[in-house]
Amino acid sequence: MKAQAYDVIVVGSGCGGSCSVHRLVTSGASVLNLEYGPEYEEQDLGSFEQYYDAYARLGYAALKRATERPGPGSWKRSKYFVYDDDVPYTTGGEGWYWRRYRGVGGRSMFWAGVAPRMSPDDFREPELDGFGPAWPLTYTDLEPYYDWIDDHLGRVGVAEDHPSVPAGRPQPPQGFRCGERIVQHACNRLRGEFPLLRYTHTPKMIATREMGPGRAPCHYLGNCMEGCRNAAKFEAKYHLYPAAQATGRLTLRPDAVVTDVIMDPDTGLAAGVRFTDRLTLEQHEARAGVVVLAASTLDTPRILLNSTSARFPDGVANGSGHVGQHLNDHVQASVIGYLPQLYGHRTYNDDGYTFGVMIPRFTQTYQRSKGFIRGWEGRSGSGKGIDRQVEGFGSRLKTGIRDHYQARISLLGFGAKLDNPGTFVELDPSGRRDRYGMPIARIHSAYHDNDLKIFEDIKARFTDILEQAGAEHLTSSAAPAQPGTSEHEVGTCRMTKDPKDGVCDGFGRTHEVSNLFVADGSVFTQQTDKSPTLTIMALALRQADFIVDSLKRGDLRSA
Ligand SMILES: Cc1cc2nc3c(=O)[nH]c(=O)nc-3n(C[C@H](O)[C@H](O)[C@H](O)COP(=O)(O)OP(=O)(O)OC[C@H]3O[C@@H](n4cnc5c(N)ncnc54)[C@H](O)[C@@H]3O)c2cc1C
Ligand code: SF4
Repeated sequence: MKAQAYDVIVVGSGCGGSCSVHRLVTSGASVLNLEYGPEYEEQDLGSFEQYYDAYARLGYAALKRATERPGPGSWKRSKYFVYDDDVPYTTGGEGWYWRRYRGVGGRSMFWAGVAPRMSPDDFREPELDGFGPAWPLTYTDLEPYYDWIDDHLGRVGVAEDHPSVPAGRPQPPQGFRCGERIVQHACNRLRGEFPLLRYTHTPKMIATREMGPGRAPCHYLGNCMEGCRNAAKFEAKYHLYPAAQATGRLTLRPDAVVTDVIMDPDTGLAAGVRFTDRLTLEQHEARAGVVVLAASTLDTPRILLNSTSARFPDGVANGSGHVGQHLNDHVQASVIGYLPQLYGHRTYNDDGYTFGVMIPRFTQTYQRSKGFIRGWEGRSGSGKGIDRQVEGFGSRLKTGIRDHYQARISLLGFGAKLDNPGTFVELDPSGRRDRYGMPIARIHSAYHDNDLKIFEDIKARFTDILEQAGAEHLTSSAAPAQPGTSEHEVGTCRMTKDPKDGVCDGFGRTHEVSNLFVADGSVFTQQTDKSPTLTIMALALRQADFIVDSLKRGDLRSA
């Protein structure tokens, strides 16, 4: 590809990148969007597909490789999994499981859609408890962007605010299942001890109402994480790209692996990026007035660290040494039990979308007395479980499963992991490179004492709730889930007020290069208990408005 000038280059087309692209082109900017993976095809979204159909479509070898991967519906996504031969990585400390999806729309195509707003207190918390740097923006700064997402992309939830989860402008959620009602009553009984305890509907980026052409309202069959063919769940390919492409100002280039940022030695500004064609391995350069990296929390630092020059010997925008540091995902713990009230209950079609119930953070007031800061939120669901308690073969097994099917109840907690120096990503010190010439990543993870206290607290509170509901045969996580598996990793190019403390300012602009931006999970100042993606999207939209305004004012160099 011949070098060509655009207003903006956006690297990555996932949750952050797609928002950035859409807002930039619909505001008049010309954009080159470089995406590592291919275009997803509709038949690869597996919400309707059964395992045996996938077997026929993909063949044994692909299926076997995919089912070896943790995660729901892995076989259906196998075509888009990137394996170690394509993006190898190494780990240190507690290890890290890096599930790598590459394709237009990024992980939006396969996420669960859980999308709580961060609360005003989430943005203030570092100042209140004194741990880590302050966020350089407030809830009020993001509120218009949260609202835009609700109005234009669709999000279900409850209409009432909870102190930890602002409601926003939600569409009506699905109903509760039998078991969920029982646990909801148990939570209500525990409110004397925990006034903020609610067992309520999860805010999810799913539309239950008509949202226009190309989208159907949710029909509650489940399998959302296997790709929603209805486009009821937010999927960037269907929700943002059609309108962006219709402007005529977007050039989308799939199969383009960006390796580094090109710097202009005269101006000290970013001049563009280098990329390798994933299929031919040919190398290219592209030029623009502004560069936005939205390659995700683990890949954006890799690109920055691989962009060295005389001015930035340790990677562009890394004068502070913070690129790749402060990596955090969520501490996860679960408790599962069986509600004897529902043994033998008739099975009915109550699948619904996944993670329909949320327990917003309710432990704010007592956690210090328990010796930890920050907190956790929970998800829950009932029914649909294959019961491991059931023994036997043949008709005994089938009857046992039918008897227990509705009775299963699960609670899963996501705790804010605290920043610690043992959790970060770097370029592998061995110097090993992938097939595109990129140094491979080495991902380190360690637990902070606070994380382990949160893990124990989740289990203790969930056990109380299930015991109050009369559940039996409780089993709980023996240890926190493997780091990385929450998929909620953030923080490797964090935004800070003081350039010494981080990589980006409150608009995701790197402190050191005024036309180089980051628009993905890496900009989070700190982890919270919330699933991060809605906020990644809101931050990217706000940043795009800032870029457009700056280009109009001539504050950033335009191509
Ligand atoms: C099964 C599953 C369930 C999830 N459920 C939830 C949930 O319920 N709620 C929630 O908040 N989050 C959830 N997540 C996490 C959510 O998907 C991520 O937080 C979100 O996608 C992060 O957005 P991003 O833009 O930072 O990265 P991504 O969406 O991963 O996008 C990054 C894009 O950059 C591309 N890229 C990478 N490297 C390069 C390169 N060198 N050159 C060019 N392009 C590159 C990638 O191919 C990708 O398309 C889930 C994830 C998965 C997989
Ligand atoms: S339950 Fe709703 S959101 Fe989930 S895959 Fe089905 S239609 Fe899509």
